[in-house]
Order: sequence, then C-alpha cells, then structure tokens
Amino acid sequence: MAYKAAKGTYDILPKDIDKWHFVEDVCKKICTSFNYQEIRTPIFESTNLFIRSVGETTDIVSKEMYTFDDKKGRSITLRPEGTAGVVRSYVEHKMFADSNQPTKLFYFGPIFRYERMQKGRQRQFTQFGIEALGSKDPAVDVEVISLVVEILQSLGLKKVKVALNTLGDSESRLKYREALVNHFKPVICDLCGDCKARLEKNPLRILDCKVDREHPAMKTAPKLMDYLNEESRKHFEKVKQYLTDLNIDFVIDNQLVRGLDYYNHTVFEVMSEVEGFGALTTLCGGGRYNGLVQEIGGPETPAVGVAFGVERLILALEAEGVNIPSNNKIDAYIVSLGEKANDFSVKLVNDLRRENLQVEKDYLNRKFKAQLKSADRLNARLAVIIGDDELEKDICIIKNLDTGIQEEVALDKVINYIKNK
Ligand code: AMP
Repeated sequence: MAYKAAKGTYDILPKDIDKWHFVEDVCKKICTSFNYQEIRTPIFESTNLFIRSVGETTDIVSKEMYTFDDKKGRSITLRPEGTAGVVRSYVEHKMFADSNQPTKLFYFGPIFRYERMQKGRQRQFTQFGIEALGSKDPAVDVEVISLVVEILQSLGLKKVKVALNTLGDSESRLKYREALVNHFKPVICDLCGDCKARLEKNPLRILDCKVDREHPAMKTAPKLMDYLNEESRKHFEKVKQYLTDLNIDFVIDNQLVRGLDYYNHTVFEVMSEVEGFGALTTLCGGGRYNGLVQEIGGPETPAVGVAFGVERLILALEAEGVNIPSNNKIDAYIVSLGEKANDFSVKLVNDLRRENLQVEKDYLNRKFKAQLKSADRLNARLAVIIGDDELEKDICIIKNLDTGIQEEVALDKVINYIKNK
C-alpha cells in the first residue's frame, strides 16, 4: 500500500519553499521593527488550557481539537491556536514582572483543527501570530492592526480589507447577552442543536454559527454597539481615531464576533478581496483579550493579539500574482572526468562550500555532457571542469555558463576566482 499524507495535512515541497521563506522573512523583519520578540512554545499542552481559554462552547473546543490521553492518562491536545500557549508561558515565566512592558511576542508554528476540509482550510496549518501583553492603551490595539497592515503591504498584497468591531467589556456584554437571549428565544426552535445549547450557555456564539448563518434572525439581531458602556465606547472611539490618524482604512462589521471566547473590546479581521481567492478569504483575525491572563492564573493583565493563516497568505500572494524573490542560482558546478579528478573534486567542493559558496558536483558518475546538463538545470553560474589531464597540470577550466566564455585557472586560485565572479 502506498502511503499518503494524512487527510487535511500536506507537504511543503522544495519547489514551494521560497514562498514560505519570503513570508517568514517579511513577518520577522516587520516584527523586529515593531519591537516584538519571537517565542516558541510546545505543540501540545494540557487539554484544560484550551477549554479554559478558547471556551467550552466554541466550535474549536467542542468539535475540532485533536485530544488524546498520554501513557499516564493525562489529557493532551495538539494546539488548536497559538495564544493560549503563549499566555500560559507568559504566566509560568512571570514575564509580567519584566521591567520592559508591555511584553511583545510573536510566534510561527503548526496548528491543528479537525475541520471539514476545503481550499484554504486544512487540519494542520501554520499560524504566525503576535501578542502584546500588559497595556490597555487603545494605541496598542492600533499598533497590532498597523503591524498587520505593514506586513500585508510588505508582502505586496494590495486587495485587502480591514473589518473592525468591538465586543465591549464584560459589563456591556452582560447587558447585550440579555438582549440576544430575548431576541433568539422566539425563533430558537428554527435554529440548529448547537445554537439551542448556546442560547443559555453563550448566546454570542449564535452569531458565529456556520449552520444558521443565513437565518433572518441573524440579520435583525441586536447590535453590541448599542449596549456599550461609557468606557467601552471611549476605547472603541480611540481605536478608530488612531486608525484614521495612521491612514489605515477599515470598515465596521457588527457581525464580527470571532470564533474564540476570550476576546473583548476591539476585534478585527483582514480579508483578501482578490478575485478567485475562494470562499475562505480571512487572512488573519485578532483582538483584545483582557481577561485571559487572569483566567489562566496570572495577574489581571490587559492584552491584544492577532494570528495569520500562513497558507492563506500564500494563496493570496498567488492570487494577486506577487513576484516572489527566489534564490534559484548556484555559484558553481564541478564537472570532473576520471577517477583522480573525481577524488579531487570531492575535496574541492567541500573547500568551496566552507567559503560559503553554493556549489554542487556530480555523484552519479555521469558523462561529461550529462554533468554539464546538470549544471544548467541547477542554474549554475560557472562550471568548473577538471579532467585527469588538467589535474596533472594543476589547472582547471572554468566556463561561464551565461556567456559561454571559458578560462584556464590554476587550482590554487579557484576559490578566489569563483568568489570574485
Ligand atoms: P483563528 O484562530 O480561527 O482566528 O484563525 C486565524 C487565521 O488562521 C484565520 O484567519 C485563517 O487565516 C487561519 N486559519 C484558521 N483555520 C484554518 C484552517 N483550518 N486551515 C488553514 N488556515 C486556517
């Protein structure tokens, strides 16, 4: 039986790796300029961490987690998002006590969700995320959004839309919750089983239901905006003002609630608007999560973050036809003929690589022409040709594969010759 990658997973092949390096490099560069530092947390955590943070009634926790017992019967989950692990680490390592605040972190890594597969949705995918912990200043919400916009621009993505909403603080949410229950109660028998359970447990989640999305009661549902208390309203006004000051375009989307429970105040998503992108256009989503650090056992700490789906960024790059810089040339290919020359080329190729030159040689004992063909296929700039005759004379022939011009070079000058080309 031939093995295949497990359903919902895929290989990133060498032919596609330039795109990944490009995205990673841009994200890291922009994070550095915004003074965010990289953190790497484990791929699995104890299941309770995710139940506690993401929320029991979310689709992620109730349907999509890869959960198993380890050999000692501890319940383990492959991370279905990145924030919970980062916050766990922040609390465990008491980063809140560091002298530099807010704590600004970014991460890259695989995420696992048992979801229905389609274009842009896998069961193992990659998120790049940032978290800023320790400040309730709306300027930090805007810093995060501005970093997102900067990344998209640096990647060369132009057709994007920033959607913004506020979920208010817990006081505003409580009043809104009541209004939602009153609104959905009369039609609850029309809605799916999950929504029926959500009505009492977490009515805000009804607005995020994938099954009942088109039900008329969704459109007429009360808007949280009308239930905001003074503090929440002020926070949101500041966010909008700063975004305007920074010339960042955005649209208000009252339906935007996000699929995770830990958010409050600002929530946002960025969608690709390029044609032919497919149904799933959300490139990233984030927002404020002021209660989460405390929920996980840390001190009361306001925080804000965002996560990108890296596969979706790559799909967007392809859909917008962005030119990806690629390193597809090597410096030289050593063509050797005869046993002695081959033995010599083993050492030469190694010496050249130690000088940080990108060099390849033949390992299949191919004929002269086939070796030159390999050099061509690898886009080598130079072919270094050594036969036993040349070896006798302590020389080789170096052919410039772009111009066809060839020169005799003394063997002890080869490294310098190639370096100078
Ligand atoms: P979320 O943690 O659900 O807010 O997701 C953040 C981003 O991750 C989304 O905007 C998508 O770009 C990406 N994403 C979420 N789920 C998947 C998935 N199953 N496959 C690929 N990308 C995903």
